[in-house]
Amino acid sequence: MSEAWDLVVIGGGSGGLAAAQRAAEYGARVALVESGRLGGTCVNVGCVPKKLMWYAADVGQALREAASHGFDAPLRGPHDWALLKAKREAYVGRLNDIYAGNLERRGIRLIRDRAHLAGLHLVAAGGELLEARRILIATGGYPLVPELPGAELGITSDGFFALERCPPRTAVVGSGYIAVELAGLLQGLGSAVRLFARHDAVLRRFDTVLQEAAAASLQEAGVELSWHSVPSALERRADGLYLHTRDGAVHGPFDELVWAIGRLPASAGLGLEEAGVDTDEEGFITTNLYQETDVAHVYAIGDVTGREQLTPVAIAAGRRLADRLYGGMEGRHLDYSNIPTVVFTHPPLGTVGLSEAQARERFGAGVKVYQASFTPMSHALAIHKPRARIKLVTAGEDERIVGCHIAGPGVDEALQGFAVAIRMGATKRDFDDTVAIHPTLAEELVTLR
Ligand SMILES: Cc1cc2nc3c(=O)[nH]c(=O)nc-3n(C[C@H](O)[C@H](O)[C@H](O)COP(=O)(O)OP(=O)(O)OC[C@H]3O[C@@H](n4cnc5c(N)ncnc54)[C@H](O)[C@@H]3O)c2cc1C
Repeated sequence: MSEAWDLVVIGGGSGGLAAAQRAAEYGARVALVESGRLGGTCVNVGCVPKKLMWYAADVGQALREAASHGFDAPLRGPHDWALLKAKREAYVGRLNDIYAGNLERRGIRLIRDRAHLAGLHLVAAGGELLEARRILIATGGYPLVPELPGAELGITSDGFFALERCPPRTAVVGSGYIAVELAGLLQGLGSAVRLFARHDAVLRRFDTVLQEAAAASLQEAGVELSWHSVPSALERRADGLYLHTRDGAVHGPFDELVWAIGRLPASAGLGLEEAGVDTDEEGFITTNLYQETDVAHVYAIGDVTGREQLTPVAIAAGRRLADRLYGGMEGRHLDYSNIPTVVFTHPPLGTVGLSEAQARERFGAGVKVYQASFTPMSHALAIHKPRARIKLVTAGEDERIVGCHIAGPGVDEALQGFAVAIRMGATKRDFDDTVAIHPTLAEELVTLR
C-alpha cells in the first residue's frame, strides 16, 4: 500500500482537475488518476475542438458573405479539413501538456490508469492501492449508441472528431445540442447534412423561441430536417450507409452517420456497488447538494452525476467542494439554478433561467413575456440574413427576470453579463434603466417593450 492521501480524484477531466488543483492549493495532499488524456471530454472530444471547428465554419460563412461587403475574395476550392484537424489537434495537445504541468506545479501526483474503489478508503490504480481519506469520482460520461442492427456502422461525437476528411453526405441522428451543433458544423464545412429527429423539433428542453431559431438556422444553412424519424437499423450498401426508420422508410446513401442521442455516465467498473455508492437506474451517481454520495467520504461531481452536463458546472462543483472540504468555507456548494449555456449554431443561441413554459408552470398567471425578432445590423448588407430572436420571461409584480433566451450573432459572448444580472435578481425595470450600447444586438435586451 502507498502513502496516505487527503484526496484521491478519479478522472482528470474538467471537474476532477479543478477539484484536485483547488484542494492542493489549500495544502491537501492529492493524487489524481486518469485513464485517458488529461482534460477529459471538454478538451479532447467536446467543447474545445468543437468550438475551433465552429470558428472555422464562421470564417467560411464570412468568406461567402465577403462580396456583399465589397471584397473580392472568392472561395477557390473546398475547405481543407485535414489542415484544420492537424492544427486543432496540435492546440489540444498543447492544452494536454499545460494540464500535466499544472498538476506537477501543485505537487499533485498523476497516475495514468483506470481506477476503481477497492475497499473502504482505498483506490486501486497503477498497480497500487492508494489510501485516501476522501475520494472524489469525476469520471464523466460517454456517448450512447442505440441497440439496433448495424448501429456500430455509425460514429458518435468522439468519432466525429477523429474524421480525417469532411464526409460529403452525413446523417446526424438526435435533436439535442450536440446533434444540432455537429449538423451545423458539418454543413458549414462542406458536408450535405440530414438531421433525423424523433419529434418535430430540436432542442426540446429549451424555450420554443430557441427551438424555432435552431431549426430555421439549420434549414437556412442547407441542413435537411427529417422529423418524426425513429431509427430501426443501419445498413451498409455499395454506395454508402442507409438508415431505416420505424415508419418503414429507408434514407441514404450517407458517407457517415453520427449518433448524437445522449450520453451515459462512466460509472461501470468503478466498484460502486461493492462500496455501497448509490446510482440511479441509468448509472448516474446520486449526490446531494454538497456533492456527497451516500458513502461518507466518497464524493462525485460533473457528468457522472447527471446534473447539467456542462464543463463550467463540473468545474464549479469541484472548486466549491474543495473550498468546503479544505478551504474552511462551510456550507459552500454549487447552486444549480440559473446556469447559462450557449448552443454553438450559426448564429449561436444563448439561454439562462426558465423557459416560458417552465415559468408558467412555476409562477402561473404572474408570468409576462417580452420578445422581439429582427435582422441584426451585422447582417444588414449580407445575402444570408438570419433573424435574431430575443425573449425575456418575467415573474411577479416586480417583473423579476426568470428567463432570458437569445438567438443571434455575438450571443455567446453577450450572455455571460446578463447571466450575472439575472442571478442577482434583476427586474425588467433594471434592464429598462440600463443605458443601451449602440449599435449592438445586446442593446435590444434593455429596450424591449
Ligand atoms: C461534443 C461535445 C460538445 C460539448 N460542448 C460543450 C460546450 O460547448 N460547453 C460546455 O460547457 N460543455 C460542453 N460539453 C460537455 C462537457 O464536455 C462535459 O460536461 C464536461 O467535460 C464534464 O466534465 P467531467 O469532469 O464531469 O467529465 P470529463 O470531462 O468527461 O472527464 C472525465 C475523465 O475521467 C476519465 N475516467 C473515466 N473513468 C475513469 C477511471 N475509471 N479511472 C480513471 N479515469 C477515468 C476519463 O478518461 C475522462 O478524462 C460537450 C460535450 C460533448 C461530448
